[in-house]
Amino acid sequence: MGSAAVLKDRKNQIFRKGNEPFDIDCNKDSLAGAVSQRACVFCGSRVVLYPIADALHLVHGPIGCAVYTWDIRGALSSGPELHRLSFSTDLQEMDVIFGGEPKLEKALYELIEKHEPKAAFVYSTCIVGIIGDDLEAVCKRVAEKTKIPILPVQSEGFKGNKREGYQAACNAMARLVGTGDIKGISKHSINILGDFNLAGEIWVIQEYFNKIGVEVVANITGDGRIEDIKRAHGAALNVVQCSGATMELADTMQERYDIPSIRVSYFGIEDMAEALYDVARHFDDSEMMRKAEILVRDELKTIMDKIGVYRESLTGKKAAIYVGGAFKAFSLVKAFRLLGMDVVLVGSQTGTKADYEELEAITDDGTIIVDDSNPLELAAFIKEKEVDLFVGGVKERPIAYKLGVAFCDHNHERKEMLAGFEGMLNFAEEVYSSVMSPVWNFVPRRKEVR
Ligand code: SF4
Repeated sequence: MGSAAVLKDRKNQIFRKGNEPFDIDCNKDSLAGAVSQRACVFCGSRVVLYPIADALHLVHGPIGCAVYTWDIRGALSSGPELHRLSFSTDLQEMDVIFGGEPKLEKALYELIEKHEPKAAFVYSTCIVGIIGDDLEAVCKRVAEKTKIPILPVQSEGFKGNKREGYQAACNAMARLVGTGDIKGISKHSINILGDFNLAGEIWVIQEYFNKIGVEVVANITGDGRIEDIKRAHGAALNVVQCSGATMELADTMQERYDIPSIRVSYFGIEDMAEALYDVARHFDDSEMMRKAEILVRDELKTIMDKIGVYRESLTGKKAAIYVGGAFKAFSLVKAFRLLGMDVVLVGSQTGTKADYEELEAITDDGTIIVDDSNPLELAAFIKEKEVDLFVGGVKERPIAYKLGVAFCDHNHERKEMLAGFEGMLNFAEEVYSSVMSPVWNFVPRRKEVR
């Protein structure tokens, strides 16, 4: 790797497995000038709350903040689609000078009358933090008059890194939980936290849980509904996917309602099966475990032969992973192993020390592990490792294509369902079509990025 790609103050956030004792620096604010791939605090909260489909989402700030996150997840809904509209108070110079509270209050009344949402989330942006509008007071006033929950999301963009946005989103949802009726909820019930139903995943996962005899009380937040979140405290267990986004809410529910939580991933064969077994183990129910085993066996029967065909062509190809949360990276490492591919680079925007220790444990010697990376570093690593496929999100896609490397979208914008057993087959098909595409024969691969 060219030394110019790594800034001196970021050296400890990059680690090569096998070279030195593992001690990566992470979970801190991005270095100024490093052009981090991370989003702001506001964006962090927006991505978590966005899929709640029957709520009004109002961005209190300049129009650019709303545009930046408009339809950010494309999360699918089985009913209302109010979440897909992006509302903003469009703060202007005079609002900044004299305060934006009157404009916010007026916007809330107007939008609530027009769209009749079940609740409203009001997001604070950088400028609102600077001018000091009292979101809490405005939301309280409007809630009293409209009789629906109006929830301030304290997500001023500058106040930390993306993880703090997750926290702000969880704080807002925590105010809803505990306000609904929990009569009639089964003792074998769960909330699904941390799946955002980008391409229908939550419907597949719900079906698996229903088949093994588990009731899903609330989806938090994919295909989410306000009434379900209000009664989420009636569930017996929180099943949390993704390392950071909704863990804070699970912790709050543990404290307030004594609801335990387990962490799972629905991506890849091993992790999906383990998620079902973990839930059955938690309820200590042999019939549930038996149903889970049958489900896994039947699902594997339909996909393994097809995956084997892709594996033949993909064996020995090299993959690079750069994703938001490190938990997703664990599953991706295992999924690539199933496809016979070698993971040579893996990193995340928001991984914690414990996350990176686990990544270090499951990767091969020589793998580069990186925290809060930037385009120059990623491009240098991809060239050095002669990567065949890069997995990431919208900000990583141009890096791959400029280098003439195949790309697989595993983030907000994807339209391919990648969860569960069926999702693993979709992933294998997508990886195969991308890596083996003849188009890569026509690009000046691994030449300098201009
Ligand atoms: S909240 Fe601040 S950092 Fe985030 S998009 Fe708006 S202005 Fe930019």
